[in-house]
Amino acid sequence: MANIYLTDQTRDVLDTLVDLVNYTAEGVLEVVLRDTIFRPAGGGQPADTGVVMFGGAEAPIAGAVKRDGKAWLKLQTSAALLRGSKVQIQIDGARRRQLSRAHTLTHIMMAAFRQQASGFASKGAAIAEDGRSVEIRFMADTGYTPDLPAAEAWIQDAINDDLPVDIIHAKDMSAALRAFPELRVDPDLGLTGKVRIVSIFGRDANPCSGTHARSTAELAGLRLGPHRQVDDFTMISAHLAEAPSGT
Ligand SMILES: [Zn+2]
Repeated sequence: MANIYLTDQTRDVLDTLVDLVNYTAEGVLEVVLRDTIFRPAGGGQPADTGVVMFGGAEAPIAGAVKRDGKAWLKLQTSAALLRGSKVQIQIDGARRRQLSRAHTLTHIMMAAFRQQASGFASKGAAIAEDGRSVEIRFMADTGYTPDLPAAEAWIQDAINDDLPVDIIHAKDMSAALRAFPELRVDPDLGLTGKVRIVSIFGRDANPCSGTHARSTAELAGLRLGPHRQVDDFTMISAHLAEAPSGT
């Protein structure tokens, strides 16, 4: 099974085959598709929304679960679907683009606060379902107070520079660290084996399997704040203006 979204995140329609079919105890139809463009929730990024079309039926995708190393899509339908059937999967491309912008924003925010917080350690991010709001979480040395205007200026500078966002594959973490000495890694993730690095040219690099903007210029219309402190964690929110249509 190929996760097409890892290599072509702009694709929002795909013809494919049903490899496996399962009915849960509650009677919910689950399928594994030969290839998929539906990205499940993960790494703070909400799941895509979409439908699977087959034999005149349109089944909304209610979610995805990983089982036996396979991504099972839960379909809302009473229609029967057989192994080997031809189907077409469609995802909401506009929503995907918005989530990709928001996801990229969390990367550049992490980089901005890493600049100013000694002892910085990233501790995850959350993206709202509509892709308009994000919140990053990190730890820093005691006594650190976020300077939001300085961070926003640093991010705005990166946006103005229209920096490319690139995906680079490394055979393991030590190879990734040789290529990107400033690699930002959450040690809690315990990554081993091949890694997919998302690089924002000259400003940030970190391992990630999400979808992203093609360049920082897509993050125009950013507003940073507010921030909150919970125990040892600093949380910073940000909001994005709606993407211009046609991007
Ligand atoms: Zn990412």
